[in-house]
Amino acid sequence: MEIIITEYLGYCFGVKRALKLTGEVINNNRHKNKKIFTFGSIINNPGVTEELSKKGLISVQDISEIEKNSIFIIRSHGMSPDIINKIREKYEPEIIDTTCPFVKKAQARAKALSQKGCFVVIIGNKNHPEVLGIRGYILNKNYMIVEDEKDIKTIPQNKKIGVVIQTTQTKEKLLLITGRLLEKTRELLIYNTICDITGKKQDSTKKLAENTDIMIIVGGKNSANTSHLAEISREINNSTYHIESFQEIKPAWFRNKKRAGISGGASTPVKDLIDVKKAIEKL
Ligand code: SF4
Repeated sequence: MEIIITEYLGYCFGVKRALKLTGEVINNNRHKNKKIFTFGSIINNPGVTEELSKKGLISVQDISEIEKNSIFIIRSHGMSPDIINKIREKYEPEIIDTTCPFVKKAQARAKALSQKGCFVVIIGNKNHPEVLGIRGYILNKNYMIVEDEKDIKTIPQNKKIGVVIQTTQTKEKLLLITGRLLEKTRELLIYNTICDITGKKQDSTKKLAENTDIMIIVGGKNSANTSHLAEISREINNSTYHIESFQEIKPAWFRNKKRAGISGGASTPVKDLIDVKKAIEKL
């Protein structure tokens, strides 16, 4: 069996940065002994999240679980400014912001569009933390989150519509949705806020899917960018499997297959891809 790993493997810039900052906070806190909180996960990878929690990072699902005299880390996906302000006022923690600069750009674009009087469309997953964070920057709450074409029906006619897109979505979706939005307005302002590395990972995964019999996409099931890689691959190659770890590999998937491709999301460590390669070699 020939096994090919994608050329764009490992953490993206934003994830590396978030993990570096978080690591520094944990190390510097050794003598201070403060509790370190984050809202949700720093990055969407269960293995990494578990490692960080062993080192003392407390990931809460409700901000009421945060305590005074603590450190609060804003995750790489960013957060709504309203929630950050609530945390600041109520718990007065030391705040460390690991929001990816590409996400910050999407937040700033959404704010600018709303300042220009646009009805803002955010293309993305309705419950994804990045999208919920971007939404918080829209000043007049005149917005809608669009997951797919079906949602466009409910958008009212508007004088001006402004568009931003979740950083890990696909160019194809941006083209499709913005094309349809022309039915709703005569003035459409579009910011392509998909980050560069997302596009590169998607293109290289597509190529790999075209040239292999089976594709293994590695990364958190809750990771938007990894899930998109799996979708893109599946459209081309029916034998696509999205797994979080090599332990999920089933020998039956590889029956009569000669070339396997491995790709992974922006929050998937290189080690996880290598482990998958080794596991396939042992079959
Ligand atoms: S995928 Fe892009 S936007 Fe998301 S954290 Fe990585 S660099 Fe930032």
